[in-house]
Amino acid sequence: MATDNPFRALPSVDRLLAHERLRPLGDGERPVVAEIVRQALETARAAVAQGQPAPTEDQLVESVLGLAEAVFRPSLRPLVNATGVIIHTNLGRAPLSEDAIAASAAVAAGYSNLEFDLDAGARGSRFVHLESVLRQLTSAEAAMAVNNNAAAVLLALSSLPARPGARDREVIISRGQAVEIGGGFRIPDVLRQSDARLMEVGTTNRTYLRDYEAAVTPDTAAIMRVHASNFRIVGFTETPQIHDLARLAHEHSVLLLDDLGSGCLLDTTRFGLAPEPTVQESLAAGADLAMFSGDKLLGGPQAGVIVGRRELVERLRRHPLARAMRMDKASIAALAVTLVHYLRGEALEKLPVWQMISAPVTGIQRRARRWARAIGEPAKVVDGRSMVGGGSLPEESLPTKLVAIPSAEGAYVTDLARRLRQSDPPVVARIERDALLLDPRTVLPQQDSTLVQAVKTALRG
Ligand SMILES: *Cc1c(COP(=O)(O)O)cnc(C)c1O
Repeated sequence: MATDNPFRALPSVDRLLAHERLRPLGDGERPVVAEIVRQALETARAAVAQGQPAPTEDQLVESVLGLAEAVFRPSLRPLVNATGVIIHTNLGRAPLSEDAIAASAAVAAGYSNLEFDLDAGARGSRFVHLESVLRQLTSAEAAMAVNNNAAAVLLALSSLPARPGARDREVIISRGQAVEIGGGFRIPDVLRQSDARLMEVGTTNRTYLRDYEAAVTPDTAAIMRVHASNFRIVGFTETPQIHDLARLAHEHSVLLLDDLGSGCLLDTTRFGLAPEPTVQESLAAGADLAMFSGDKLLGGPQAGVIVGRRELVERLRRHPLARAMRMDKASIAALAVTLVHYLRGEALEKLPVWQMISAPVTGIQRRARRWARAIGEPAKVVDGRSMVGGGSLPEESLPTKLVAIPSAEGAYVTDLARRLRQSDPPVVARIERDALLLDPRTVLPQQDSTLVQAVKTALRG
């Protein structure tokens, strides 16, 4: 009989296409659905050829639905960050303020004067939209922004002018700062890309001003400081102050570049955190160019802001790489509004990152208790720490209250965490010492009931 042939057990494309469970995939997408059905059958045939049993029709329908979901549903989607890490690079860093979202949506929805000078009725520059607010905030002579800070650093190093008569463009960096910042962004590699030559000075833990001074040659184009964003060297350490570096650089007619990383505009010590170098301090100390991210402590969209001396910024704008690194209109709109929040003195109230950093523990405790009560057994409220994250304030944390769901066996907690990640929207929690931890600090207030529902569902298994 034909049933001996396992391939015969597989339905035809048409039969599978007619399956009622596949009907919701819609008529409009029919050719795509037919293609997906063909792919599912091909995979099944390959499995059968390997000696595996033929899948049932239900299993085939499941795999078609899975493939269809992967195709039709955008894989990038919002989620609930209950990890307590405020600037979480894997989770998209800074949430935007409501005003920034509105401004960016308005610009994205239609046409704008992105590169159009409304007074002259002629071509304009996309850089003008950020310049005046950045200058006001930082007292810089000039400012611009590109796609991210990695691009800003690469652009600054690439367009670094060589000194008259120099054969090379050397950049002096402390050995302790020639680091990997994360995601494979290594300062020595960026220097290689830019065609500037790295001159490492000092040792990993100690670099003195005289180390920099001894390394200056006629080929030196700049001294660069890189903020040690995601690690800290403690104990027997030495790093010159930024104003000493600036003085040394200028005595030798070379530039001082400052990669600030996070680009903080506010004093972090007000919240019990270590001081984070601010952009204003860097420029006031004499940095010729300072670079920082838009979506770390600044609390805006992905961007790399460059502020500093006018002729240098203008040189950067003219560099061919600037075109390749330019920001898009929606991000420019969001960044401009984010910066205006600082100008108006309303950053703490309007920017989610700063709302989270400055959130009083009493309010967090109230939310944690409410969650724990709504979730029920075995949830309880415990003390914990939230992290600032995002390559700013390494190891700095804020006291918080967590909802903990303890477990007798570790596997239960990892299972629970997985089920939470599979909810819609996904909820990402933290696991520590066999307990699943949920931190209200990083959960947007409007997500409270979503989170509670997801946890209740996940607990039911
Ligand atoms: C985060 C960081 C960068 C990279 O910034 P992106 O905006 O992520 O490209 C560069 N330098 C330092 C010191 C950083 O902390």
